[in-house]
Amino acid sequence: MSGAVVLSCSGGKDSTATGLYLQEQGIPFEAIFCDTGWEHPATYDYLRGPLTARFGQIRVLSADVRWPERVRLHVLRASGAPMAEIDAAERAEGARLAEVCETMAREVEALLGCGGARSPLVRTALKKAVFPARVLRWCTQELKAFPAKAYLGTLDDPINVVGIRAEESKSRSLMPEREYDAGMDCETWRPLIRWTFADVVAIHHRHGLAPNPLYMGSALRVGCYPCIFARNSEIASLDAGRVAAIRLLERFVAELAEARIGRAGDIVKRAMPTFFQSENKNADGGYAWPIDKAVAYTKYRSTENQTELFSGGREEGCMRWGLCNTGRLRRPPREIRPHNYRPRPARLDPYRHLFGVLPDREIARRAGVTSSVVREMRRRSGVAPYTPPGSDQPTL
Ligand code: SF4
Repeated sequence: MSGAVVLSCSGGKDSTATGLYLQEQGIPFEAIFCDTGWEHPATYDYLRGPLTARFGQIRVLSADVRWPERVRLHVLRASGAPMAEIDAAERAEGARLAEVCETMAREVEALLGCGGARSPLVRTALKKAVFPARVLRWCTQELKAFPAKAYLGTLDDPINVVGIRAEESKSRSLMPEREYDAGMDCETWRPLIRWTFADVVAIHHRHGLAPNPLYMGSALRVGCYPCIFARNSEIASLDAGRVAAIRLLERFVAELAEARIGRAGDIVKRAMPTFFQSENKNADGGYAWPIDKAVAYTKYRSTENQTELFSGGREEGCMRWGLCNTGRLRRPPREIRPHNYRPRPARLDPYRHLFGVLPDREIARRAGVTSSVVREMRRRSGVAPYTPPGSDQPTL
């Protein structure tokens, strides 16, 4: 392999499996991690601990978010005041706003459980006074794609290796193993494109590497905690600290957005910015889902067939570039289902990633089904039963 091989590492099972595969093939590589400052603390621990021990130092790439030095005062400009006066006022306002934003950012960052580390996602939301959304996906672009592209651009003939698997979705099943990616301006290689979930579990087993501990809970994916396209179950399982951080961030972004509207002399009344925004209009005619409303809906009205509120759109952006692991869809794509595929009990779906990772009876307990259902579904998925470390006897 001629160019510099760079693994886009998310801390999820697929990018980890990709790194293990490269090692098995004897291909030297460097792992990079695009940090939004919005991951689960367990993912940071996993990256710094087991993955660094396995892959060597992981290069952390994060956006350098700076507050603007001056703020445009449209109302003052429209008044026809002298330019020198406008300039001084705009610089003074910029300095004041920078101080306000820095204080707000630190307050939110203190709630993230990451030791108060700076969060590019929090800071960019405050700087822009707007949250990322389907139509304005600045999180993927500014926090992941741009830093990754900038780093890859410093290397000679880089090859961006990503842990994307066809089995994960229809759109991924159409991706080639190798292609030139104009977005990243380099070759992209997806060595796991034809791998199954069982292959991913098997390579972790072969190397005695436990997956990110988030998979041991109810997590289906590893990435932003939460992603703007979170599934209902992911919102329902957010911890109190993260909910409090989002609530505070929503308040701050709303205050800053209102101030911006005031500076522009805009009298249009806009909806309060919220971290989650639905694709379709709500009953109240808007798209906003304040965090408390989203949690209440997903936690207390949870049913198996509840409509997903925000997950549509996750196939674009982060996943397309392999920059985060967005987990499995509820059903395998039709064209790659095994010939003996039968619909499985839906209750087991959120726990399939634990096949072979935990004993069948423990998975059954969590999913509220019998062990025999788990055993049968695990067998159909081609995953070997869980074997405790140091033992050669599986535990069912
Ligand atoms: S994982 Fe979701 S929230 Fe995070 S950068 Fe990607 S699209 Fe944005």
